[in-house]
Amino acid sequence: MSVFPLQARGLIADIDGVVLVDGEVLPQTRELIRHYGASLAFVSNNSTHTRESLCGVFRAAGVDVEAGQFFLAGTRLIYSAARDFPGGKALMLATESLRELAREMGLSSVSASSWRDVDLVLLCRDTEVSYARLEGAANAVRSGAPLYCANHDLVHPGKSAVYLETGCFLALLGAVHPGLQPRVFGKPDPALAFDALRYLKLKPEECVFIGDNLETDAPCARAAGIPFLHVGGAEGLPLWAFVGSA
Ligand SMILES: [Mg+2]
Repeated sequence: MSVFPLQARGLIADIDGVVLVDGEVLPQTRELIRHYGASLAFVSNNSTHTRESLCGVFRAAGVDVEAGQFFLAGTRLIYSAARDFPGGKALMLATESLRELAREMGLSSVSASSWRDVDLVLLCRDTEVSYARLEGAANAVRSGAPLYCANHDLVHPGKSAVYLETGCFLALLGAVHPGLQPRVFGKPDPALAFDALRYLKLKPEECVFIGDNLETDAPCARAAGIPFLHVGGAEGLPLWAFVGSA
């Protein structure tokens, strides 16, 4: 029998370092789903996956979730870019699944060598990034192209190593162009948490936000008025202590 010390009606959970470690969904995540059902939303700075592809990772691990339960910095960036630059030409540093989403939303993906012609640069956690695309992005932002960036994070944690995050690319572009003023979509900005609250149809005080990052998750929860519990990572409560043994 699992132990749920919290009586919150809804749960908002960070993903990396909390329910997903080294690419594997922690088995206790199934307990969260059993307890909260549709009153669970995931809020993440993930900019590798679409909502559908990340949902597929969870389902493959036997966790029964819906794509609508995921609120991700990368997809929020794509939606915003498509709204702000309808039919725009974008130099995209992003995985193929996010580039495909951008194309579905009406944006066109231009080659790195066409950096002079772009309307904006999209910066996500591009796990297949190339020198040419980084150089094209650097030249585009130096020449004044707006930069939409998924998050500031430098890394996200694994059990014994870290994974490079979007903020590393942002730091590189900032070194080349010190006046860089990106629009950043991920936590600690509370927009994703507000999206999750609208989905849950709950008030902030009716939910609990669990996350492993005190520099992004905690201030995001605070700005949205959601009580925060430090879960995951080296310092936080382990998920098994929160939900009991799987
Ligand atoms: Mg995290």
